[in-house]
Parts: sequence; structure tokens; C-alpha cells
Amino acid sequence: MKYISTRNSSKEYNFEQIFIKGLADDGGLFVPKSLKKFNNDELNKLKNLDYNGLSTEIINLFSSDFISKDELSSLIKKSYLTFREKDVVKFSNVGEIKLLELFHGPTLAFKDVAMQFIGNLYEYYLSKNDQKINIVVATSGDTGAAAIDAIKGKSNLNIFVLHPNNRISSVQRKIMTTIDEKNVFNIAIDGNFDDCQNIVKSMFYDLEFSKSINMSGVNSINWARIIAQAVYYFYSYFKLDQETISFSVPTGNFGDVFAGYLAKKMGLPIDKLIVATNENDILHRAISKGDYVSKQVKETLSPSMDIQLASNFERLIYYVNNSDSKITADIMKKVKQNSYNIEKSNLDIIQKDFLSESCNERETLEIIKKNYEENNIILDPHTAVGVGAAKKLSFNDCVVLSTAHPCKFPDATNSAINKHEKLPDELQHVLDKNENFQVLKNSTEDVKKFVKSKV
Ligand SMILES: *Cc1c(COP(=O)(O)O)cnc(C)c1O
Repeated sequence: MKYISTRNSSKEYNFEQIFIKGLADDGGLFVPKSLKKFNNDELNKLKNLDYNGLSTEIINLFSSDFISKDELSSLIKKSYLTFREKDVVKFSNVGEIKLLELFHGPTLAFKDVAMQFIGNLYEYYLSKNDQKINIVVATSGDTGAAAIDAIKGKSNLNIFVLHPNNRISSVQRKIMTTIDEKNVFNIAIDGNFDDCQNIVKSMFYDLEFSKSINMSGVNSINWARIIAQAVYYFYSYFKLDQETISFSVPTGNFGDVFAGYLAKKMGLPIDKLIVATNENDILHRAISKGDYVSKQVKETLSPSMDIQLASNFERLIYYVNNSDSKITADIMKKVKQNSYNIEKSNLDIIQKDFLSESCNERETLEIIKKNYEENNIILDPHTAVGVGAAKKLSFNDCVVLSTAHPCKFPDATNSAINKHEKLPDELQHVLDKNENFQVLKNSTEDVKKFVKSKV
């Protein structure tokens, strides 16, 4: 399959290039030049596959010029052996609403689903290329942990993770900073997530620097992550065996919900995708009324969604504008100046596929409380936002993506119900192990210097 940048369709890339680069040199995001669209018969053939089999079929459509189907199949099996659930994901009910539990991987958030796969994909790449790669990634809490777990101890790979100092939960931080491996470096930035992401982006755009350290990125713009996440939308549709299906997706960087949109574009009968945000509601404002103007980031109970500019939204802009990279590039200039309002005609197109809602802090706590009292289930604050958005829209028969294990956010659940879930036994040790991280100023130069000194 050939890929292009959302900002320039004249240059083509293969899977290996887009996987290793992550972001196009022109600042755009990679998208496939064309998409496979399944018809009913083809969907029926996928219906009875197990999770790994389905992953192989879906991902292979995008990666076959890089890895053979057989090798992909064993790579996927190996990736998901680290999960506590045999089928990787699991369904449960809160009242009428169904939850798709995506947090049974090693670091207790849905990010593991894509990241365990990606870690092995790097290893596969390096088995054929004599190189050393330095991964640099910004995290709002969960990406970093998932990436570190996937990369730790792998040869010829280093990983540098930037998190916003004091703005993620202590359990989130400890899962990252207690890993004692020579190739893992944690950096706490005095700033918020957007600051961390901006530093990583500037490092990438400094081509001299990024080439000199052979820098690669695993944040949610990496296409390999998106395709691994699209799989559980297919899986849910087949397992729940409904005519159509809708999903409510707790959203930050628009990666997870974009994976659902991709599944829909590939022919999966998805009705609506609900974009559920916390008080950082730019995506809700954008989808409900076209207002894509960012404000100051607020710290909330659901820190993994404390994001204003959602990188993956660019992919939606691209598709909504008929895959026109010139228009996309122009719009992204406006986004950069923080002056983009979505045109009415485009908004109509977006609203065919998406609904949105936002839950404030009080509502999030109430959802956690209500679901505990009524259903005896402790929701993590991100999942609670997903449930809350579905309720507000009276969309009761949708599947809510449950993106994190509640034990990762004890402060939030304590303030809602005075209770918190215990960490699974295999992670108990992180609570009192020594932490290792470097605090740095919100400065690209300082981070570059630090990284240079370690590679
Ligand atoms: C990352 C994350 C999200 C948001 O996912 P995006 O792909 O960034 O939209 C939601 N919930 C949890 C727990 C997360 O870690």
C-alpha cells in the first residue's frame, strides 16, 4: 500500500517509511493513498476470527509490503501474549450500556493494544536493518507507560518519554519511572502536555537533529497505532452481532476515535461515533458547532485527555475535504494561527458520522458515583466521560470504550466514592520502588541536550 501526507499528495511512501518516520517532513500526517472497502460477504468472512486472526487480516491490508502475513500473524500473537485477557479485550455492562474493556494489557490502558504491537514491529524492522533508533514521545500519562513497556530492554532502541511534571496521576507516573532499564529515559517537563508535544514536534522538524539521532515517534499520529486500534471496532461489531453499532469514545488526541472512523470508511456498519471530552472540550465545540479554537489546557480528573490541539483531527479534515491535501494544508495554517472555524458544508459531513458531548468535573464524579451505587462497578474517570457523553445524548445502546483500569486513577475514584481499586498483583511493586526521572524546563534546547548526552 502506498501512503501520502495529508499536506502533499504528490510524494508517495511505503509502510516502512511511514512507520519509522511517524510524521511527514512537511508537517502532515500519513494516510493511505486509497482504502480497502469491505462488502458484506467480505465482512462475513472475518466474522468468526479470534482477536489475533482479525488483527492479522486488518493490519495486513496496510503493511504487506513490509512484513509477510505469516510473520505478521506471529508478531501479533507475541504482542498480545502480554495481556491478561485471552481475547485481548473484554465486554462488560454498566446498566444498559456496554463497555469494551481495553485495559487488560501490561500498563492498564488501551494504549497497550497498539503499543505492544508497535514495539515488536520495531524489533522486526531492526532485525533487517543495522541501525539504532531513538524514540522520543510526549505523553499525557498513558502513552509513555505503554511505550516504555513495549520498548524496554529491546536492543538498538532507546526511548525518551516527556511527561508534564506533576500533571499526571502518581500511579501513571510510577508505572513509567520505576522501570529500571538502560534504554528507558523519563523526562518531566515543567509545562503541560501540549508543551511536551510541541517540544517533540520541534525536535522532529529540526531535521538535522532528528536525523543525527535517528529519531522515531510512537505517539498517536503513528499510522501503525491507528490500524491496530481499528481492529477492536471490527471485533466489537462481530462479537455483538448487531445490524449497526455506535461507539462512545473518550477522546484527547482524536487517535482512538479516528480508528473507529477508519473502520467505518472501510465498510464497517458503524452508525455514530460519539466524541466524548472532558472540560478540554475543543473537539466537542468543533463537532457540535464548528468552533476549532483552542483555549488554555485545564487539568482534570481525566489527565490523558487534557489536550487542546488534537493532532489526529488533521486526518479527519483531510477526508472531509475529499482527500484534498492542498485544502488540508491551507486549513492547517489557520489551525496554527488558532483561527479555524469549520465551514458549514464540512460540519454537515462531519455530523453524519460524529456526535459529541463534554462532561465537566462534577459530572464525571457523579457518573462514577452513580455507576458504583447502581451497578457496583468502579469506572476510571476517562471511561466515565465516555459513559456520561452517551447518557447526555441519550444514546443508550452504544458501546463505550473503556480506556483505562480504574486503579490507575485512585484520587479520582476516592473523591467520587471514597474507594479505589487495587493495582493487579504484578504491578503492586511500582508503588514503592525507586523512581527515576529528570525534571527539565519547558525548553526544546534543554531536551535536545539531554537526549544527545544519552544516545
Ligand atoms: C490516551 C487516552 C485517551 C484518549 O485517546 P486519544 O487517542 O488521544 O483520543 C482516553 N483515555 C485514556 C485512558 C487514555 O490513555
